[in-house]
Amino acid sequence: MTTPMMKQYQGIKAKVPDAILFYRLGDFYEMFGEDAELAAPILQIALTSRDAGEGKRIPMCGVPYHAAETYLIKLVSTGHKVAICEQVEDPKAAKGIVKRDIIRIVSPGTLTEFISERSNHYLASVFFDTQWGLSFLDLSTGEFTIFQTAESEVLLAELSLIHPAEILLPPELMKKSKLWVGYFCSIRDRSSYQSRVLDQRFPGQASLLEEFPVAASAAAALWEYVLETMPGVDPSHIVEIKTYRSEQRMFLDQWTRRNLELTESLRNQGRKGTLLSVLDMTQTALGGRLLRHWIDKPLLVEAEIEQRLNNVEELTSDSFSRQDLSKILAKVYDLERLMGRVSYGTANAKDLLSLAQTLALLPELREVLKASTAGSLKAKVPLLEGLDPLVHKLLDALNPSPPISLRDGNIIKTGYSQEVDELRSIATGGKEWVAKLENAERERTGIRSLKIGYTKVFGYYIEITHSNARLVPEDYIRKQTLSNAERFVTPELKEYEQKILGAEERLKELEFELFQTLREEVRSYTQVILRAADSLAEIDVYVSLAEIAVRKRYTRPQITTDGQISITEGRHPVVEDMLEAGVFVPNDTQLSFDHHLAVITGPNMAGKSTYMRQVALIVLMAHIGSFVPAKQAAISLVDRIFTRVGASDDLAAGQSTFMVEMHEVAHILKYATKKSLIILDEIGRGTATFDGLSIAWAVAEYLVQHPEFTPKTLFATHYHELTQLEDDFPGLFNLHVGVKERGEDIIFLHKILPGRADRSYGIQVARLAGLPHELLQRAKTLLLELEATKSVPSLADSSQAVTQFSFFDLPKPHPLLEELAQLPLEDMTSRQALQYLFDLRDRI
Ligand code: ADP
Repeated sequence: MTTPMMKQYQGIKAKVPDAILFYRLGDFYEMFGEDAELAAPILQIALTSRDAGEGKRIPMCGVPYHAAETYLIKLVSTGHKVAICEQVEDPKAAKGIVKRDIIRIVSPGTLTEFISERSNHYLASVFFDTQWGLSFLDLSTGEFTIFQTAESEVLLAELSLIHPAEILLPPELMKKSKLWVGYFCSIRDRSSYQSRVLDQRFPGQASLLEEFPVAASAAAALWEYVLETMPGVDPSHIVEIKTYRSEQRMFLDQWTRRNLELTESLRNQGRKGTLLSVLDMTQTALGGRLLRHWIDKPLLVEAEIEQRLNNVEELTSDSFSRQDLSKILAKVYDLERLMGRVSYGTANAKDLLSLAQTLALLPELREVLKASTAGSLKAKVPLLEGLDPLVHKLLDALNPSPPISLRDGNIIKTGYSQEVDELRSIATGGKEWVAKLENAERERTGIRSLKIGYTKVFGYYIEITHSNARLVPEDYIRKQTLSNAERFVTPELKEYEQKILGAEERLKELEFELFQTLREEVRSYTQVILRAADSLAEIDVYVSLAEIAVRKRYTRPQITTDGQISITEGRHPVVEDMLEAGVFVPNDTQLSFDHHLAVITGPNMAGKSTYMRQVALIVLMAHIGSFVPAKQAAISLVDRIFTRVGASDDLAAGQSTFMVEMHEVAHILKYATKKSLIILDEIGRGTATFDGLSIAWAVAEYLVQHPEFTPKTLFATHYHELTQLEDDFPGLFNLHVGVKERGEDIIFLHKILPGRADRSYGIQVARLAGLPHELLQRAKTLLLELEATKSVPSLADSSQAVTQFSFFDLPKPHPLLEELAQLPLEDMTSRQALQYLFDLRDRI
């Protein structure tokens, strides 16, 4: 026979086959069977076994319940789900085995603790029904969004943007595993996508849900999952469902986001070297997350952009106190996550105090904002009202340095509740009484070492060492004998003990009750607090953008719709930041519908990529509502920015480089419009020379041949042949990056100039990179041979205007190098060699 406990365990485990079950037994959460075998090595804990009845043993491991959180996080962060099963009735009242049930399921997406402060942590849900529906929720902040699209590519880009910790899928989509590579996915019953749970919970949003029915289905399944994983908890801080419409926000595909290094750098995946890292001087976690959203989703509506720019501009001026706002923001806590904890009932006294301290800043903030004239900052004032009474109440009620635990008292400030004050005075007064009694008993007995102490088990006692045993008075009652002392009580002491302990117990209970009432009161302000949080986040982002604009000498872009992009002395915000001040060479840009494709040539390392990205970033920053790194900029709104960098590997997707490259180019040509901005960096590089050249050529032609399709394009290429297109197509013009020759060396000027580059200087660049002399000589010979045999005949014909780099043009190697090459090093002593080096240095 299976033991009754094992029977209960199996019943509960059957409800959560895909989760590891933490089964509460005394002070431990125990795991059994396969769960134990799976978890033990991950948690690095011992795997034992337990009698399961019928003489069978079952593997088992366990973690102490008070330290369970760390273990739980470890399992969840390695991609597992954990179901927590507790005793749900008082063991004393239980007949037979204590009733247990699952109180929470923690999965990667439903984790609300130990997550990054400056970014969101999303649970997502996807559904398909002629369109793709996406819904995602950050349980810690309450942000709940739906989005619908016809394109799977757009869906995937959105997923890569929000990077959900977990995706919920119906069975038929789960099968399309290629789409979800790299994500933790949970399968959901198809019926839960038809659930009507949202209608009751968000009655005001029926029309939004109707407008996007597929996304609403995804959201329904998501909400059901939330309710299922947190039975009995109402996440009250989730107050609305938002959406964004594709005509209002610029969509950036994954490649563009990656190439432009907006929020993640190409190399190390971190924040360093990204646009976000340059623009982010926000002081609050709220602002930090919002700025990331702004960069992820630039605006397309002119009026909205202008409004942001107005706010930034006002904050850059001396007349308006950016510093005052900054000082206030520095003291702001993460209101969204605090409200999350309030709604889950996990907020402690410190949390409520942080909340109150933050809200207490609002009156001062309103005063500063009232002075605003130009922007919409003044309009934030009413959004920051309505919380002062709550603040006063919290600050009056809460002890300014409360303990973490809610059960040990010391939470409520003296003066807030008469009952608390009375109980406290009995409890502490009682302690004084004990001290007095101690003195009195010392006098009475003449025992100087007499002590009154307290233990949980025995209560108060009088302790007297054995050596003084003869002095113990008659009325002492012996309680306990220790190795060197005896412990006694007196009736008087017992009586007092009752009174003190009763008061202490009651006090702790009362403080906890009062705290819960306060927490409920805070919860009733959820909407108002979250509204203030939104405004604080926005103000923080504006202050940050203004601070950066001032520090880095950015200017306000003029926003137009005339189709022209005109930048004077533009800079790359990130590259500029990495170089010493004044080293970055600014460059101009002129693009219009008539003059819309620039073919950019110049040696490697000259600065082509930097220039093109700089243009894309300036245009993007203007759409975010930020000032831009330029002396002057007039930016006509674009509908999208595309970038494609040749020959980057995408091994993860298992596609060949060239295939990926062509796929992306096809994507651009399909989705770009007359109003788009396209950056093409060395396309065609991923295949053999002729293929590559032909494709690059055809792409360039395609982009200038259609009068109605004139996307502004920057096209960097090492195929110099493309520069001839300028003669045939008026929309196309050539740019090159200036270099200066000095002897065999070249100096990069990083200056973008009109016209084509005449050479590629490959060998010089290789030399700068430190390739061996011998190898470079060989390369020169090869170049000469190749040119002599004209192995690129058809193209060579068409590229007569381009001066090919010829061996005979090469200056002879420096005489010192020739001398060095002849040096009989083998025959020299190290002293001689060193002497030679010194001589050499003098001769340079
Ligand atoms: P390319 O694309 O032509 O190979 P990059 O744009 O990658 O060259 O530039 C190479 C390096 O040159 C950059 O990492 C940067 O350090 C420097 N550089 C590029 N443009 C500039 C500039 N305008 N001013 C100063 N340094 C620059």
